[in-house]
Amino acid sequence: MSMKEFIYQVEARNPNQPEFLQAVKEVVESVWQVYESKPRYKEAKILERIVEPERVIMFRITWARDNGEVMVNRGYRVEFNSAIGPYKGGLRFHPSVNLSILKFLGFEQTFKNSLTTLPMGGGKGGSDFNAKGKSDSEIMRFCQAFMSELFRHIGPNTDVPAGDIGVGGREIGFLFGMYKKLKNEFVGVLTGKGLNWGGSLIRPEATGFGAIYFAKEMLALKNETFEGKTVAISGFGNVSWGTTIKVNELGGKVVTLSGPDGYIYDKDGIKDDKVDYLLEMRASNRDMVKDYADKYGVPFYEGKKPWEVKCDIALPCAIQNELNGDDAALLVKNGVKFVAEVSNMGCTPEAIKVFQEAKLPFAPGKAVNAGGVTVSGLEMSQNSLRFNWSREEVDEKLKKIMIDIHEQCVKYGKDNDYVDYVKGANLAGFLKIANSMLDQGLV
Ligand code: GLU
Repeated sequence: MSMKEFIYQVEARNPNQPEFLQAVKEVVESVWQVYESKPRYKEAKILERIVEPERVIMFRITWARDNGEVMVNRGYRVEFNSAIGPYKGGLRFHPSVNLSILKFLGFEQTFKNSLTTLPMGGGKGGSDFNAKGKSDSEIMRFCQAFMSELFRHIGPNTDVPAGDIGVGGREIGFLFGMYKKLKNEFVGVLTGKGLNWGGSLIRPEATGFGAIYFAKEMLALKNETFEGKTVAISGFGNVSWGTTIKVNELGGKVVTLSGPDGYIYDKDGIKDDKVDYLLEMRASNRDMVKDYADKYGVPFYEGKKPWEVKCDIALPCAIQNELNGDDAALLVKNGVKFVAEVSNMGCTPEAIKVFQEAKLPFAPGKAVNAGGVTVSGLEMSQNSLRFNWSREEVDEKLKKIMIDIHEQCVKYGKDNDYVDYVKGANLAGFLKIANSMLDQGLV
């Protein structure tokens, strides 16, 4: 079978799942040559198996609003691959959530988790719940209703969910409380927990910190540093927050944030109390970034994306396909030097092509944002040990793993003097999963 035929087969089996097919195509294109050269993989149909989730759970969530209105949402957990550990990956609560998006995320997570070197399989879940305009008690009741079904499918040695878009420390608390009540067990079944009840230091910062540790290595390879660099980012949630803190620490300047309503441009840089304000915006359940412009008197561009500003480094931190081919061309025209996806699959295939053709270092989310799930893995270890590591210990381990992921990308993606980080990440992640699947036979 040719690669084209293989992709055609996956398309035919998964109609109306564009995000999932996009994620699969990217990986298949990266690994096909190696796959072809290993009869053992082909005989065991590793690639056919790896694109098929081990289990998909879909369920109804019924709950009531403060005014008594009955609400019906759909819940999911995609248990994608358990070759190297229990299913592990976040929960996304966002009105756009559907099976295609969760399958793409679960698939990506499998490769990302493999890159971390920690024993975690891949999974993802969530709901089409929209937190915008909901009260805190409505959010709590929704989380409880969601867990009242999910609890029977997960466990500390089976499947360990965490946060993603729309699920932060607050939601993890409500979900954990309900799990504990239903099972009468206090165990590490979720990560991203509060510090008083089994959480890990650095977990809230981990995705952003890890991304910048990774980007620092990308820059170092080109004899560059963050010092004095202008950075454009999107989003204003947890990931944007951690990213901004670390860019500031390394001497860079973050000038943009974005939301569903548009983007803000802060020429002085997002620093000091302005960084804390991101947390307030998230907690307000308003889902808009204009509040920042109103508070600090900076320009707000309604309905626009931040990729039109002049910057040295672009870091999409919001959601899949948030940066397209036109955005990429504009960034290149305006002199961008590095692009790292902090969101999962933040760039469209057309955008990636533009960056790669311009020979610009471009790294994919599954490598760049692996710091989040890395510290989740470290949280699982601490829960098993019934012990907590210090901030310095966790940060040191995170740094070491991000440097190692960068090295794996270079090892598998280097082509003369250009590093194809997409190929490097996909191939390195794939080999470990494929070999583990082979070892475990036909399951
Ligand atoms: N949702 C995050 C991700 O995309 C974190 C997952 C986790 O910590 O399990 O990797």
